[in-house]
Amino acid sequence: MSSPTPPSVLTQALPSYLDPHHLGPWGIYLQQVDRVAPYLGKLGRWVDTLKRPKRTLIVDVPIHLDNGTVAHFEGYRVQHNTSRGPGKGGVRFHQDVTLSEVMALAAWMSIKNAAVNVPYGGAKGGIRVDPKQLTRGELERVTRRYTSEIGIIIGPTKDIPAPDVNTNEQVMAWMMDTYSMNEGATATGVVTGKPVDLGGSLGRREATGRGVYTVGIEAARRIGLDVTRSRVAVQGFGNVGGVAGKLFAEAGARVVAVQDHGGTVYSEAGLNVPALLDHVGRHGSVAGFEGGQVIPNEDFWGVPCDILIPAALEGQINEKNAGRIQARMVIEGANGPTTPQADDILHDRGVLVLPDVIANAGGVTVSYFEWVQDFSSFFWTEDEINARLVKIMKDAFSAVWQVSEDHKVSLRTATFIIACQRILHARDLRGLYP
Ligand code: GLU
Repeated sequence: MSSPTPPSVLTQALPSYLDPHHLGPWGIYLQQVDRVAPYLGKLGRWVDTLKRPKRTLIVDVPIHLDNGTVAHFEGYRVQHNTSRGPGKGGVRFHQDVTLSEVMALAAWMSIKNAAVNVPYGGAKGGIRVDPKQLTRGELERVTRRYTSEIGIIIGPTKDIPAPDVNTNEQVMAWMMDTYSMNEGATATGVVTGKPVDLGGSLGRREATGRGVYTVGIEAARRIGLDVTRSRVAVQGFGNVGGVAGKLFAEAGARVVAVQDHGGTVYSEAGLNVPALLDHVGRHGSVAGFEGGQVIPNEDFWGVPCDILIPAALEGQINEKNAGRIQARMVIEGANGPTTPQADDILHDRGVLVLPDVIANAGGVTVSYFEWVQDFSSFFWTEDEINARLVKIMKDAFSAVWQVSEDHKVSLRTATFIIACQRILHARDLRGLYP
């Protein structure tokens, strides 16, 4: 019989999905944590906490399709960290969703929530399904079965889902209802991003885009960029990119290019944003919009512009296209749109990147307001919500800017420094159980 493995080796053995050489979003996240480690001081002893999700759940989601057959989908809920409060983060429905992607998205939620100092940890969920292939009934059944399956770990004080890619207010209403039915009591606080008539918050739908716009204005002022004369290019024209594009256009900027899954439209004079939003609302994408010139998708990255807003999926700005970007500033509306290689290329070329973990934190900030309103059963006006949102975003961004100047690091590393210190300080105060 071979001798037992010494404990020191046991504690060093990493689960396969934690391999630091793992490619994809989780590997990127691990690299981002490594860049912060030198700034953590004594809290550094806890850094491995950030490199492992606290809890991961994989569920089978079987449903009856309308044609009478049964289909199975894989669903996930990952709670990356709960040191500062319950898990919080969206749920995405997409055919490419994987466990390691959801792990990275959950980890970015921990960072984001700590960066804006809302009292949450980080979590994320998803189902590996293309919702565009489902009927409304099938979508409802997928949502309800998934919610029931993850019901063992979510709850108003445990982990609070919200919308993300391809999920919306209706999906949140079904999630809230399913959880409530299983609990035997209406629990509005179990999800955020609900319809306003069901405990949702005014301003939540626009919150992520408004946050993107707010940090954009703050950064533009600091680098001497006149937004009223700026040209903006937006990838993804949904809840985030559409709202941010609208706010920039209202401030006088020209939205010169918009790309989504349907194609890319361009107009040097500026696209008519309300008309484009109306078109996307009716047809589901920018395809067929006549108020601009259709250009090849690859050309989007090289369009002359001052502000580029990736507001779709991960890994869009990479070593292949980062060298072509003309913008002075990239505002990450999406989660994880820039690879670390692209980050370095943009940095060397003097392009300022406002990272996702601060730039798109407006959504979860108003989710926090929604959750507080649900608990107190007292609802605020839209003006109150927007004013509080803007204050939180401005204050958080200004702290990030300061840390970036003090340590001569990127805004991403600065945001990670602030957030990781908060998370690990809470970890340290709580101590280990048992
Ligand atoms: N899915 C959004 C995000 O990535 C919002 C999450 C939330 O409101 O909990 O930040």
